Amino acid sequence: MADIRILDVALLCRLNLDRRTLGRVEVQANCPLCSDSGNHLYLNTESNQFFCQRCRRGGGAVRLYALLEKLDEREAFQRLVNDSRIRVSEGFIPAQKIRQYELKPLKERHAVYLDFLTLLDLTTAHRMNLRNRGLSGDTIDGNLYKTVPLSHSSRTRILSRLSENYDLRGVPGFWFDERNRVWKMTARAGFFIPVCDSNNLIQGLQIRFDDNRKQKYCWFSSSKNENGCGAKSWIHVAGDARSDTLCITEGGLKADAASFLSNGALFAAVPGANSLQFLAGVIQELRPRKIVECLDMDKLTNEIVRAGAEKVGQIARPLCGEYTQFRWDTRFKGIDDYLLSRQNILQTKAA
Ligand SMILES: [Zn+2]
Repeated sequence: MADIRILDVALLCRLNLDRRTLGRVEVQANCPLCSDSGNHLYLNTESNQFFCQRCRRGGGAVRLYALLEKLDEREAFQRLVNDSRIRVSEGFIPAQKIRQYELKPLKERHAVYLDFLTLLDLTTAHRMNLRNRGLSGDTIDGNLYKTVPLSHSSRTRILSRLSENYDLRGVPGFWFDERNRVWKMTARAGFFIPVCDSNNLIQGLQIRFDDNRKQKYCWFSSSKNENGCGAKSWIHVAGDARSDTLCITEGGLKADAASFLSNGALFAAVPGANSLQFLAGVIQELRPRKIVECLDMDKLTNEIVRAGAEKVGQIARPLCGEYTQFRWDTRFKGIDDYLLSRQNILQTKAA
């Protein structure tokens, strides 16, 4: 069994760590398995074992991940060893290596995703969800949010049309089923959010899930499928790319809504507070004079978001003339929620 570090898993799952214990052999956290708020979960960084003194659950790093993500341990293990954010001990080779296609260049991915999204619909429920975030009907249509097709027949129809026109090898989300000689796609109930670069080219897609699980978003990726391809931690750019002020937030949809609610202000969305691989490149491309960090307000209480905000600062500060951290009413977690509340207040006043 590979040695997967328990703290890596804790960070990945955004456990609420007790910062006073960071650096010790045993790091404490609130136990999410029993909704604990008293730091009863002990994470041993030497043995990579966990134990909760409240609900008495314990085990290794893989088991922790399996419990939190509601997976069996085999699946949890596969996901962890394939996750670039997890360091696996040296000399370890994953048991089964999945054959993957090399990622297609951006322009080719964009062409495929653009046609793919054009073939899809948006359900009324998903449109309502987007309207409730403050987005206008035109923006919803223009941004190409689309419902993930779930019926076998519609998927087959869409994929056969798409694969007639494009080579789908190396486009994350699609994979080739060798046995039946057809292209397939990975998906779960929800809607697609295009993740675009500063030239409005679609780099990849994210899915906003319908069910209210802890993880609300994931990449449209076929990294777990033979003959598939994984997505990368692309950064979504929304708003006027020529603006001299760049706001940084977390999550593409949030950036779209926040930009719309602030008359096209320039936003860059990191896919997670700790997925900052492409941030420096995007800033260098946009060359803003001023950068405003607008990560979720739980950066004041959530250790991992706070650490992410600090890392954003370390990357962004040297690349701009002025760097500030925006703070707002903590009743609103995201910058989009805050901007929407302000708009609603203004509209109420005007009425
Ligand atoms: Zn517990």
